Amino acid sequence: MSRTDMPRPKPGVMDIAAYVPGRETAHGVAKVHKLSSNESPLGPSPKVAEALAARNADLAIYPDGSAHVLRDAIGRAHGLNPANILCGNGSDELLGLLCQTYLTPGDEGLFTEHGFLVYKIQIMAAGATPVSVPDTDLTTDVDAILAAVTDKTRIVFLANPNNPTGTYIPVSEVRRLHAGLPGDVVLVLDAAYAEYVRRNDYEAGIELVSANPNVVMTRTFSKIHGLAGLRIGWMYAHEAIIDACNRVRGPFNVNALAITAGAAAIGDRAHVERAVEHNEEWLGRVCEALETLGLRATPSVGNFVLIHFPAEAGKTAADADEYLSQRGFILRRVAGYGLPDALRMTIGSEEANLGVMDALKGFMA
Ligand code: PMP
Repeated sequence: MSRTDMPRPKPGVMDIAAYVPGRETAHGVAKVHKLSSNESPLGPSPKVAEALAARNADLAIYPDGSAHVLRDAIGRAHGLNPANILCGNGSDELLGLLCQTYLTPGDEGLFTEHGFLVYKIQIMAAGATPVSVPDTDLTTDVDAILAAVTDKTRIVFLANPNNPTGTYIPVSEVRRLHAGLPGDVVLVLDAAYAEYVRRNDYEAGIELVSANPNVVMTRTFSKIHGLAGLRIGWMYAHEAIIDACNRVRGPFNVNALAITAGAAAIGDRAHVERAVEHNEEWLGRVCEALETLGLRATPSVGNFVLIHFPAEAGKTAADADEYLSQRGFILRRVAGYGLPDALRMTIGSEEANLGVMDALKGFMA
């Protein structure tokens, strides 16, 4: 290959559209409510602060590279064998790790039209070809995914529930998807919002993973456990997948504070239950209020809701975003997800939720 004056990223890297995180601030506003990244308004369990305070270990020492305290705690909480668990620096890291481990140039990775953007980024970073599959009514369409599978397909990402739509598919549909995939395709069930779902026909994926060597379930401490700042995710998979990913990951990918905090958080079932109840109550109240205001919301099973705005000048999603930001309410623009007419609102504290509804009343008037 000919030499150039400058280092050149490998092919495809400069085609990646970098992930844009939810905004944190609004200018000139005293109090800001950040409702743009689906974080928990309850924060972490009080047991986390206790565990961190009691931890007198030396920060000069590397963490346990296998994060066994955390894997054991996750295994206890979910009834899983810790040998089938791998932890990461957020589930984001694990999504990338799966791509690095299973994709090579020429392979195809599938994800849904309005799916989480990190899938596409990580498929491209691995040098493979991203394939977006159309949704139906903002919901995963299993037939469309199966129709998009080719000889080159190596990985399929499914966020269930999906972010930013808040929709989900029942376990019967996930099983049908799995049954239609070749055995050498990795099916990644991203269950970042699983704890929030209160539907009898929903399952995060534990049984599918236990029964099949090509299914991975990813989970996070960033949402229900209120620990987004510490970056902790985990995946549950067959030993062969765990073994392969262990060879590729960084040797100390989960830091010492994250291991301590995560283990304390997952043991506090009461805190998780409080967070679920808060969400259940306020998701309902927010959706009712939106309906009263004449705004359409996509029915959500997560801790956020997609609000659709009219195309009318002065009343669009961009206008609403501007109006709310000026009043200290930061929601998420989702044009990058193919949803230019909508804003995604994280269910926040009572004060934040009531504040947004009040501000939207002014906006719609
Ligand atoms: N998957 C989905 C569907 C998400 O919405 C998010 C957070 N935005 C993640 C994964 C990543 O979460 P984390 O890296 O914080 O674990």
